[in-house]
Amino acid sequence: MNFFLEKSPASGLLDKALDGQRLSAAEAAELYHTASLNDLGITANTLCERRNGKKATYIVNRYINYSNYCILSCQFCAFSKKKRDRDGFQLSIDDMVRKATEALEIGITELHIVGGLHPSLPFSYYLDMLKALKSLNPDLRLKCFTAIEIHHLAWLAKKTIPQLLAELQEAGLDSLTGGGAEIFNPEVRKKIAIGKESAEEYLDVHRTWHEMGGRSTCTMLFGHLETVGHRIEHLEMLRQLQDETGGFTGFIPLAYQPDNNLIPVKYPPTGSESLKTIAISRIMLDNFDHITAYWVGLGTSLAQVALNYGADDLHGTILEEKIFHMAGASSPQQQTEASMRKAIAEAGKIPVQRDTFYDPVRKKGALHAEPQMA
Ligand code: SF4
Repeated sequence: MNFFLEKSPASGLLDKALDGQRLSAAEAAELYHTASLNDLGITANTLCERRNGKKATYIVNRYINYSNYCILSCQFCAFSKKKRDRDGFQLSIDDMVRKATEALEIGITELHIVGGLHPSLPFSYYLDMLKALKSLNPDLRLKCFTAIEIHHLAWLAKKTIPQLLAELQEAGLDSLTGGGAEIFNPEVRKKIAIGKESAEEYLDVHRTWHEMGGRSTCTMLFGHLETVGHRIEHLEMLRQLQDETGGFTGFIPLAYQPDNNLIPVKYPPTGSESLKTIAISRIMLDNFDHITAYWVGLGTSLAQVALNYGADDLHGTILEEKIFHMAGASSPQQQTEASMRKAIAEAGKIPVQRDTFYDPVRKKGALHAEPQMA
């Protein structure tokens, strides 16, 4: 038995996880409530390093939100606007091409593109957007759309989900984003995201995409009205789909931001709660290769600490984050590659630039050489 775990009342469950045995949802919940933060962290980090060694990744990417107009009004969302709102926006395809071209000059490998469920843009806009961006560079990966956007586009184009995904893939879509999962429990979902697709619909979109050979990430919004039990239930549903398809590249827990929305939560999740959630995710998701510490929601310092609590990825440079910042995130809107490498190296890990599918990017030049310490 690990010396550090000897006195923990949860040591039997921690040993079980370290032995490579799967924890049930009930066991994971018990562990969350009874294990100390450090025991969870040591176990999660051990499991993480068995899978990924000392490597921790980041991606050089750019976010683009094509519009924040949305026909829904999810209670937790500070991003969406109606046409009457003065801070609504909508980008032309030329605007997007300009942003993408600038970002390509600084070496991005991925565009991450999401928006609201726009009330009037035609379906052709989305296809033209993908084609225009892909034509800039065929190696540029387009990671676009949440599951609810996919539902919206299927409705707009009057197509089935498989037909729609095939058409988007043909136009240049490389990966779906993991956004929109929020929390799967239907009662909580109703209170934070009324009108949004159900958990089953979210999972169905990803299942369909995986069955077509596509890969995607998945997320969980935590620290609002949900209980730990709801988080564990959410993780179990993702684990089940991953057993079925193996199509998730990574899991991204998202720390809730409390400003400018209708949810009665005053404070975002604490550092301890965020680290425990990341650690329990690593322990429970035994069929996922990667867990991301999303620096935008956690803040860079806590995301760096999370690299020793089960996370092996810091996400990306991003360049222009709007969704979390409109909800009160105090982190910067972008990171330089150098600052991400420094944060990873200081956490005792080896920084590796990855692509959309978490494979290492190999480039000439010291900054991109891999593996190396910064
Ligand atoms: S979370 Fe997405 S679907 Fe919900 S209101 Fe915001 S932009 Fe619209």
